[in-house]
Amino acid sequence: MNMNTKTIIDEAEEHLLHTYNRYPVVFDHGEGVRLYDTDGKEYLDFCAGIAVYALGYGNKRFEEALSEQIRKITHTSNYYYSEPLAGASAALTAAAALPKVFFVNSGAEAVEGAVKAARKYAYLKDRKCDHEIIAMENSFHGRTFGALSVTGNSHYREPFEPMIGNVRFARFNDYESVERLVNDRTCAIIMETVQGEGGIYPADRDFITKVRKLCDDRDILLILDEIQCGMGRSGSMFAYMQYGVKPDIMTCAKAIGGGIPVGAFLVNEKVAAASLVPGDHGTTFGGNPLSCAAVKSVLEIFEEDRIIENAAKVAPYLEKRLRDVVASHDFLLQERGLGLMRGIVFDTDKKSPADVVKAALSNGLVLITAGSNVIRFLPPLIISKQDVDEMIDKLEASFAEQTC
Ligand SMILES: *Cc1c(COP(=O)(O)O)cnc(C)c1O
Repeated sequence: MNMNTKTIIDEAEEHLLHTYNRYPVVFDHGEGVRLYDTDGKEYLDFCAGIAVYALGYGNKRFEEALSEQIRKITHTSNYYYSEPLAGASAALTAAAALPKVFFVNSGAEAVEGAVKAARKYAYLKDRKCDHEIIAMENSFHGRTFGALSVTGNSHYREPFEPMIGNVRFARFNDYESVERLVNDRTCAIIMETVQGEGGIYPADRDFITKVRKLCDDRDILLILDEIQCGMGRSGSMFAYMQYGVKPDIMTCAKAIGGGIPVGAFLVNEKVAAASLVPGDHGTTFGGNPLSCAAVKSVLEIFEEDRIIENAAKVAPYLEKRLRDVVASHDFLLQERGLGLMRGIVFDTDKKSPADVVKAALSNGLVLITAGSNVIRFLPPLIISKQDVDEMIDKLEASFAEQTC
């Protein structure tokens, strides 16, 4: 580690509130699917800033769109219109196949807005204030109070109780467990189409189909959180599109700004017509011209460069290579995922995924864990089969380095 790198780490550690155990790496810049640190070391990136950098690093058209917007104006407030806001709303509603959007700055905020819209929808029906939400065990929806309240991980929630209340947890992919919790107070069912942080669990088609029908029968709103699995990662623009169901409300964030912080929730006509109205919800920065220029540019490049087609083409290859890896090691139990959102499951008595992630980093491969026993693979959507081959070689080398 050179002196400059050490100075940066020391300065950060001295002043930042200690809420993360960071790796001792200072990323400086990126190019394509590669990152470079302040020591000049190169890394193959299979994390993409946690499913954010869908287009990879250094996309010239994206950078030009942002630069141009920065030179004009980056913030106006929501008292006024801007051309990027109009353009991004048209592009994202078309991409999501949902007619109305509200822009925010992060994933958690998108979930907050979705939950508020659902409660308001139910409130307008009966003017009562006791509506319930069904969320899933093992889910992750963010760290703010509303989002945390529907996050199915008591370890994250407990120190911050009380939560928003009237949230019940069902088991993901267990329809009976959802049905049991439904009553006439239930206003929404929220789930990730593919659970990410919890360990990469795709929804079963049968489960999501039955939940959709239950929601239709009882006028309950289905909220799908596509913050991690959306924006092409699944091999479709949004993962729900592979299930033959449609959400009433959908959240997205992470990749929609291509590296600029932006989130959104989208609603169908029914919810748009009878939920949030002026005065109910707002944001200073949400929908600002800079982040909207980013969304617009990302969606244009998705189309022009056929980004989703590439994800759909490389995903089966990544899946196959990972399956072969799992089959050849007794400390690996399973491979699962959807598209370019994949995980391998460890027998943690035999090997620690965290140790492998550390070894991978020293071998120039960026990976992250999910849940307690999974390493997940979230590459930029522009990766090639050769990148997958290189990743597998580095992964194998990282297994060899760590024998616990
Ligand atoms: C990351 C994530 C969030 C939270 O997004 P932030 O931008 O970190 O607030 C919510 N839901 C899912 C599924 C996520 O993966």
